[in-house]
Amino acid sequence: MNSLREIESCTDALPTDSGCTIDPITIQDESDWFSFIGQNLAILWKDWPRDMEAVNLNNGGYSFKGTCPYPNCNRASVFIVLTSTGNGSCTVAVLQCQACQGYILGIVEIPPHTGRAVYSAHYPMGSPDETVAVEVPAHIREDFKEALRCLWVKAYNASAEMCRRAMEATCLDLGAPPDKVLEKMIDWLEVNRKITPYLKDAAHKVRLGGNRAAHPPATPITATPVPAVAIAPAAPALPNPIAAITPVEKIEKEHAEAIVEFCREFFHHVYVGPKLVGKYDFTKPKATPPPTK
Ligand SMILES: [Zn+2]
Repeated sequence: MNSLREIESCTDALPTDSGCTIDPITIQDESDWFSFIGQNLAILWKDWPRDMEAVNLNNGGYSFKGTCPYPNCNRASVFIVLTSTGNGSCTVAVLQCQACQGYILGIVEIPPHTGRAVYSAHYPMGSPDETVAVEVPAHIREDFKEALRCLWVKAYNASAEMCRRAMEATCLDLGAPPDKVLEKMIDWLEVNRKITPYLKDAAHKVRLGGNRAAHPPATPITATPVPAVAIAPAAPALPNPIAAITPVEKIEKEHAEAIVEFCREFFHHVYVGPKLVGKYDFTKPKATPPPTK
């Protein structure tokens, strides 16, 4: 185990901060490491690039070489061992990507009498970018952060459902009648000029996307194709471009990302923009009387 070492970790921003803060974490002993690992593996990754290998170095140590698992990096990189612990034949190490500085947990086997590390497994240790404008009320921000975490681990249905929940909370916060269903709440906000027609459309997309994510399709998506004889002759293509948009049956990455963006757009218009506009006064200053002698 290495002696004292400082690791910089991007942690949750405080409510008063506008973004991610960097807090130094001082690692002194093994229990600190396991606490650090526990915090960062709290998010379960569903999938990440697996091409990775151990590279044995002349000094007796090793590094990893492979594709960085972090979505914003996702390139071939080298991972340097920061610290490691193990029982001789099996070693667990924290390694750092030299491209993006993200951390991974690496496991290597060291067969007896070889002194050479053989790659066994690796896991990303990062956390998602949960940045949400501080102007968004705290309870709505928490729902939306959960949507962002779900998106990050590729849980697209869950992400869309949390966006819908955040949208419902927003409608209530804006004064929509709580005894109505979300569809009617959104319409009420537009009728009462709380939101524009464009925002109404965005909110309905979030509502419907959340519904699509929450309920299985009426027919399985992998249904067997209809026999050719049963297919009616193709109708002439309609000139209306809207006809080209096919209803989404399954929430995929693209759809979950769009739903998240619709929420961000909505939040910006109802919470962030008004605060920003209210912050400045560009009216002509009142004339100040000349100083009296
Ligand atoms: Zn990286």
